[in-house]
Amino acid sequence: MKIAVLSGKGGTGKTLVSTNFSNVISKSNTVQLFDCDVEEPNSHIFFDINYTKEREVKTLIPVVNNDVCIHCGKCAQSCQFGAISAFPTGTVVFESLCHGCGTCKDVCPVNAITEKEKSMGIIRFGKDKNKDISFGEGILNIGEPSGVRVIRELKLNFEKSDFIILDSPPGASCPVVETLRDMDYAILVTESTPFGLHDLKIAHEVVNEMKIKCGIVINRYDEKFKDIEEFALKNNIDILAKIPFDRQIAVEYSNGTLITDKFPKYHSLFEDIVKKVAK
Ligand code: SF4
Ligand code: SF4
Repeated sequence: MKIAVLSGKGGTGKTLVSTNFSNVISKSNTVQLFDCDVEEPNSHIFFDINYTKEREVKTLIPVVNNDVCIHCGKCAQSCQFGAISAFPTGTVVFESLCHGCGTCKDVCPVNAITEKEKSMGIIRFGKDKNKDISFGEGILNIGEPSGVRVIRELKLNFEKSDFIILDSPPGASCPVVETLRDMDYAILVTESTPFGLHDLKIAHEVVNEMKIKCGIVINRYDEKFKDIEEFALKNNIDILAKIPFDRQIAVEYSNGTLITDKFPKYHSLFEDIVKKVAK
């Protein structure tokens, strides 16, 4: 079963859920945990990983031969990212904006554009030294405009496992959609605030659009704020768990400790999530 853990924004508890979920499920299943939050991967902090494989992810970006260019501007018109501009004096590529889609090369009427390789980041893989968890993560180079290609390359490394868990990037943009592609289930992590509900609705729209089954984990649960439960009821979404606001969780999280290893009550709480997701 392939499961993505996502949240509308960062800091909601997505990594807390994906790492502890993977930990609990690994006691009786084979698990691959991939950190797709390539701009800021931090799932690895909670494990003791022996990395055995690492590969650079590259893309092709355009190079303009200004001796051949006729300054027609077709490349600039075709680039939806504003990464190439045609001036009467020459055509310029802004590498930091370029997504490497190749469109400008295709539309150039005089073949003035060739391509060169550029590093986007790395993907690496290993195993936890003490747990039966295979781990993968992508690390996007600083300044790169999009992590989609790195996530795509990372996801080419799924192995035969009972569960594949993806820690998604925050938000609801292209990297999240790429992470969600081909998933069987999405765990939507939110918190008991109006902002949490706002972001949850956006995340839910994306998974709904992609026809992926989902459930909600409410982190830092506040029983006085009922709007999320009402939203779940109205949209027929399972509430998988309510994780209380607990200072012990914050302390252990900041120490890089899995709460499911430290506290039996949280091990049981995550066992419940596993049962509900796998039912
Ligand atoms: S490769 Fe794509 S993103 Fe890059 S400059 Fe050309 S059209 Fe724009
Ligand atoms: S499409 Fe080709 S010829 Fe036209 S401006 Fe761009 S690089 Fe120059």
